[in-house]
Amino acid sequence: MRRLHQHEAPPTICRERNYRTVWKFEALVWLWFGFGSTNSLTLVSFPFCFVNYPANLWLGNSFISRKKTEGKNMSMIDITLPDGTVNQYSEEITAGEIVDDIYGRKHGCIAASVNGEERDFSFVIADLENIGGTCSASVDGIKTDSDAGMHILRHSAAHLLAQAVMEIYPDAKPTIGPAIERGFYYDFDMEPIGESDLRTIQKKMSQLARQNLSVERVECSDEELENLFASNPYKMEIISDKVEDGSGSTIYKQGEWYDLCLGPHVASTAKLMNVKLTSISTAYWRGDQSRQQLMRIYGIVEPSKDALKETLQRIEEAKKRDHRKLGKDLQLFHIDEEVGQGLILWTPRGAAVRQELQDFILVELRRQGYYQVFTPHIGKLDLYRKSGHFPYYQDSQYPALVERDLMKKLADEDCSCGELSNLMSAGDIEGYLLKPMNCPHHIKIYDSQPRSYRNLPLRLAEFGTVYRWEQSGEISGMTRVRGFTQDDAHLFVTEEQIAKEVLGCIEIVQIIFKTLGMDDYRVRVGLRDPDSDKYVGEGEKWDKAEAACRTAALSLGVPFTEEEGEAAFYGPKIDFVVKDVIGREWQLGTVQVDYNLPERFDLTYTGPDGQPHRPVMIHRAPFGSMERFCGVLIEHFAGKFPTWLSPTQVHVITISEKHNLWAQEVISALVEAGVRVEADMSDATVGKKIRTHRKMQPNYMVILGDEEVEKKTVSLRGRNNEQVNGMPIGEFIEKLTAEIQSKDLQLTLTPKTEKQD
Ligand SMILES: [Zn+2]
Ligand SMILES: [Zn+2]
Repeated sequence: MRRLHQHEAPPTICRERNYRTVWKFEALVWLWFGFGSTNSLTLVSFPFCFVNYPANLWLGNSFISRKKTEGKNMSMIDITLPDGTVNQYSEEITAGEIVDDIYGRKHGCIAASVNGEERDFSFVIADLENIGGTCSASVDGIKTDSDAGMHILRHSAAHLLAQAVMEIYPDAKPTIGPAIERGFYYDFDMEPIGESDLRTIQKKMSQLARQNLSVERVECSDEELENLFASNPYKMEIISDKVEDGSGSTIYKQGEWYDLCLGPHVASTAKLMNVKLTSISTAYWRGDQSRQQLMRIYGIVEPSKDALKETLQRIEEAKKRDHRKLGKDLQLFHIDEEVGQGLILWTPRGAAVRQELQDFILVELRRQGYYQVFTPHIGKLDLYRKSGHFPYYQDSQYPALVERDLMKKLADEDCSCGELSNLMSAGDIEGYLLKPMNCPHHIKIYDSQPRSYRNLPLRLAEFGTVYRWEQSGEISGMTRVRGFTQDDAHLFVTEEQIAKEVLGCIEIVQIIFKTLGMDDYRVRVGLRDPDSDKYVGEGEKWDKAEAACRTAALSLGVPFTEEEGEAAFYGPKIDFVVKDVIGREWQLGTVQVDYNLPERFDLTYTGPDGQPHRPVMIHRAPFGSMERFCGVLIEHFAGKFPTWLSPTQVHVITISEKHNLWAQEVISALVEAGVRVEADMSDATVGKKIRTHRKMQPNYMVILGDEEVEKKTVSLRGRNNEQVNGMPIGEFIEKLTAEIQSKDLQLTLTPKTEKQD
């Protein structure tokens, strides 16, 4: 039996039978026979019960079960418990019964782990194929405080969702329904429904949960599967693709509903009381736009009412912070279908934020001895053939450009698009590529003149724009785009310099995080898998580079993990994962050591011995991409940027026309001091002006009336709603520029008054 992917099943499949379940079915079958005997015709043709079950399936299973139990002498098996003790149980014992025995009836576990594999509570230990003559196994419970536990809970909720949908929309065809990072979804081929229908579906889910339906696993032969899912072409496609001929698979059944699935699942729908359907969208069958469009329903599930409440609050907060919404409200960026999907237009206000970030990092780069370079947005195909980016990563790139003359010649020769693509891949014709990476261009700058060990390290930096072809379904706001600018740099170093340079790269990342108040982050060091031979470069060099990364990570004094097998094939790497205020993790900033590209481009430098040596490259991008980083920053600050980063730092508002002259003077002084300022001298009421301008989240609003005009002062209202009146203009500008220069995260001009106890 091979793994089915539709529900992200556990890695291995066992042949297991749930005897109790089967006996229950048997009872039903007898009951049904009793009823059915008055009409034997219905008996044969009518699907089992009021459900879609062919009777032969259950008859078949009960037959198997009887044969098995009759032929066996009851013997005992050894079970190792989590504390290491070994208990003896009857061989008919289930994983759930053992978990009850270990933790008592109120254990709060939702599934079991048997020999490290996730299993249903109904799993009969003696059914382990590898149990052999020793008849022993280790068993523990799985709780919802683990990823595995939440995954099972979510996947089970997806089943409940499908069951509810099928009861309300009997013509709907369920397709796939996996657990995802924060919840679950299920895709249905069905009539379009809207957000308002979610309430009805959720109500049905609650009803089904309250019915405490047991969730049962049943093994089926190929033939049985085909009968069960004959009316659902999607499930049939999965069966024909994923189930090896003759191996059969399993279904999970709750009440009258069943699904093709490998499990495991919670034992009863009662575990799924705390569910909330969150949204609805469309998706294509198997992500393929040429295939059926489906309705996708998303939901979340938690083990308790409180946990659900907390999660819903977090989702609400995340919605408020969504950079796509804030980006629009605050006029930070624009995406225009006519320009193209995933291509960001930075509007003046968003560009101001980006420019500040770039200026900020440029200062750090200069301090660390980087050189700025500029390189074009395209390069020849041959360049990327050499670097390995073409043709292997063709699918994630815009199609190549062909020179005009050549294009014409090929057209005259009736060359088809397919042939053209083949000629390009094979390297038979030349063309250009929108650059997917900046590295090859920087390599060519390195290689443009002879280098000596005295020139190293050579650090080349560029805000380089690259282009990737993301699938349209994956494009999202600023975080998944088709064109983006990396704050990229490549360091060409000697072996001995790796450690120090990696440390330097990390320092920049740290300065950025500290300045932006991203205090909660962890570091992942990606090392090679010692058992794999996919890596380029000698083992000894790798040892050194890995040690350098480890030492650098250690010096940070933040939690870090070493992950074997997570290195790139060309070198170890360090990734920074930032946790935001609402607990979401973002991978930002990366430093990678590379032995591969210097080799491919045959880069050298002259060593102290006068001989040519191979440099090592370090790729690093502390922000990653400006687009993604700004998207994350918008959410991190919830659109309330610290003053130095703010698109507009001060909005000047006059109470009436007679204050406009003083306003002009104030504005000039602010502009002179380099402050980004906006003004409203319209004849709207001051209350209305304040309300309108507050929406743009300026750090300060300057409000000017008679008194300010008379005394040449300003009255301030901070974004924190604190007010300071009658501040002399000179003092205001001095304090404001100090706040900007120090990159303070707080509003220092209108500090919140500390509450006295
Ligand atoms: Zn499933
Ligand atoms: Zn690079």
